[in-house]
Amino acid sequence: MTATATRVLVLNSGSSSVKYQLLDMKPDSAGGSAAGTRLAVGLVERIGEETSRLAHTPLATGGDKRETEGPIADHEAALKAVAAELSADGLGLDSPQLAAIGHRVVHGGLKFTAPTVIDDAVLKEIERLVPVAPLHNPANITGIRTAQALRPDLPQVAVFDTAFHTTMPEHAARYAIDVATADAHRIRRYGFHGTSHAYVSRKTAELLGKDPSEVNVIVLHLGNGASASAVAGGRCVDTSMGLTPLEGLVMGTRSGDIDPAVTFHLKRVAGMSEDDVDVLLNKKSGLVGLCGDNDMREIRRRIDEGDERARLAFDIYIHRLKKYIGAYTAVLGRVDAVAFTAGVGENAAPVRAAAVAGLEEMGLAVDADLNAVRSGEPRLISPEYSRVAVAVVPTDEELEIAQQTYALVNA
Ligand code: AMP
Repeated sequence: MTATATRVLVLNSGSSSVKYQLLDMKPDSAGGSAAGTRLAVGLVERIGEETSRLAHTPLATGGDKRETEGPIADHEAALKAVAAELSADGLGLDSPQLAAIGHRVVHGGLKFTAPTVIDDAVLKEIERLVPVAPLHNPANITGIRTAQALRPDLPQVAVFDTAFHTTMPEHAARYAIDVATADAHRIRRYGFHGTSHAYVSRKTAELLGKDPSEVNVIVLHLGNGASASAVAGGRCVDTSMGLTPLEGLVMGTRSGDIDPAVTFHLKRVAGMSEDDVDVLLNKKSGLVGLCGDNDMREIRRRIDEGDERARLAFDIYIHRLKKYIGAYTAVLGRVDAVAFTAGVGENAAPVRAAAVAGLEEMGLAVDADLNAVRSGEPRLISPEYSRVAVAVVPTDEELEIAQQTYALVNA
């Protein structure tokens, strides 16, 4: 890496998509921390289909979003197309200014507690975790291999979704099942969205003017996937997702917490196969299963029109959220802040108001006017008298991955 190499390419490879951002991590002119200026952002979708689509926005040049449609056969072709787009803006991946590529990797098991420079042994270990993350890790591995082939000389860093949660104590991480069976198959609660929970809990401390070590925060990451975490003094002590991202809150298409006997029942009584049940709980449940829509905007619109199914779906979503706020208040003992983040958490004021309604005895309240303000900035929405700060803190997983990657290759 040269002294001028301050750019980091962040890659988030899904099974049929690649999200990317190129960031410049040069410290700002005031000599502050790495600014993380976005130079380009984009998304390749429907990889492997006839109708693949690449949307690229060259922020550095102030150019318009460019969209191209047409078949992109695989991840290698996708990354080459991204590289060509970046080159067209003078931001090519062959640039000596590129310091590293940071990869989002969903499952790092117990081994990876921090961002890690990828070598053959690391890649093997990520592969060994495929059985516990069959949907995600294979796509991440493909993304890594493709990027390595493109720039074999460049450090590639894995930033794990699970890493932030590896500080969970055993009593929070273990399921109450036979220990030998659990250990033989690495069955335990790993948690996900860790990059977001890490970023948002730190930003929340900043908003309160405190060091992360001084504050206890409940982070509610409410996107299409949703998870809660209890963060004590900067360390995660519990989180709602488990062995897989299915456990916990009601999500866009996932059921969240459910009696596992429901799955036996579906197989024995309803005659469903293993795969049917998997699809039902991961893709056809949650808000979409309850009311046919998983977009909170649409659900709110239907509620305003008096739609009962949408109302019930919303109420179930909020009920679960409240239970987790209560549970994590008990886990933490003292809560300094509850932070809402991700698509729903950042944008849906009615969700924030409903999740906190009636919790005044627990020191929680939302100010209606502050809650109604729309902003992309971290902000408090609780009234002065509220004992617990309620905050909206926009998440930025790409920036967090870029910062962790850049810090590691400069260490
Ligand atoms: P994410 O997974 O973080 O991108 O969040 C996606 C979800 O955020 C969508 O499915 C919507 O339910 C929700 N969302 C996005 N924008 C809004 C908005 N303005 N109001 C309510 N919900 C929103």
